[in-house]
Amino acid sequence: MKSFHPPRRILMGPGPTEVEPRVLAAQALPPVGHLDPSFQDLMEEIKGALQTIFNAPDHACVPLPAPGTAGMEAAIMNLIEPGDRVVIGINGVFGGRMQEMARRAGANVTAVESEWGKPVDVERVTAELKREKTKALIFVHAETSTGVRSDAAALCKAANEHGAMTIVDTVTSLGGIAVNAKAWGADILFSGSQKCLSAPAGLSPIAVSERAREAIAARKTPPHSWLFDFGLLMSYWNKQGGARTYHHTAPINALYGFHEALVVLLEEGLDNAIARHAKMHAVFAAGIQAAGLKYLVAERDRLPQLNAVLIPEGVNDQRIRARLLRDWNLEIGGGLGALQGKIWRIGLLGAAATPWHVRFCLSALSQALSVEGFPVDAAAVSAAVDEALGIPN
Ligand SMILES: *Cc1c(COP(=O)(O)O)cnc(C)c1O
Repeated sequence: MKSFHPPRRILMGPGPTEVEPRVLAAQALPPVGHLDPSFQDLMEEIKGALQTIFNAPDHACVPLPAPGTAGMEAAIMNLIEPGDRVVIGINGVFGGRMQEMARRAGANVTAVESEWGKPVDVERVTAELKREKTKALIFVHAETSTGVRSDAAALCKAANEHGAMTIVDTVTSLGGIAVNAKAWGADILFSGSQKCLSAPAGLSPIAVSERAREAIAARKTPPHSWLFDFGLLMSYWNKQGGARTYHHTAPINALYGFHEALVVLLEEGLDNAIARHAKMHAVFAAGIQAAGLKYLVAERDRLPQLNAVLIPEGVNDQRIRARLLRDWNLEIGGGLGALQGKIWRIGLLGAAATPWHVRFCLSALSQALSVEGFPVDAAAVSAAVDEALGIPN
């Protein structure tokens, strides 16, 4: 065996995304014990920063020691009891994953499906909530498989009006578009470290409202997960009386890096980061249009941070992506499920939402497409980018 030396890639897929050198540097600092007083201070700062970023001053916020799917599993396994009715809005891969988890939790699941590429249908969800008493409405805010934003405020409002709690997947939205747990009245929100928060993969921040914590504490049987049992987790993450109870060993160095990524985000300012994602999307979209390419999703429903671009007729998905990787060290994402071979998923997530990344990706794509028989006017793409950036020619 020899040491592993990863190639230097530019990550512009659906996550993991680019990581700032200072985040990587933080992660390489020497470990302390997970009950060390200095580490407990770091844990407290992370909890506070997550409350800020989720806009969740009254939620309990912690990063779970596993990828974004852990937040999903924790939310469902804690809140849902066997026999509970749940309504799930499904408009892509991740809604489907939550449906499968809810079934495993023993829920009585009603799925409200929308076409892939469209948002979750608020009216049909509302009709289902009206029809029968529902424990929780579950949906994805930013569907990474299709690049669609759903109306989280309206969905949470409908749930609140009909006495249902909410579980919201904000894996791709957090840090990229506005997430507001308090204004929405959302109960459990979860995310992942490797999307717009721009940290390495492997952590899943979760926010749990007071009423969800009460519902979890009042369960008839303990949650069907020990590692993600929210009550046990909080006895580890809370400093009550100065003592923490051992539950698991926190991924110490991963949390150093995550902490630094949160410092980076809050230094920029959450609102500025969100505005940057919107701006870089507008610039990228101008280039995509000039290249003669089209989006899967209608403009009003698009996620700025996840661009689902239709692959032109006759162009081979695999060949283009292989060329981008080989010639440009650039990774973009392919389509999932029914959209495989039909779209590319180009991420402008966190540290990848910069003018340089936008230009780099458009240049690489223009070259690859031209070579593969779909001629792109690279000068026109560049001019469109300049114009969108307000650079005089
Ligand atoms: C990436 C993603 C997940 C899963 O996160 P992992 O870190 O891959 O487990 C869940 N939901 C959405 C919307 C995602 O984009």
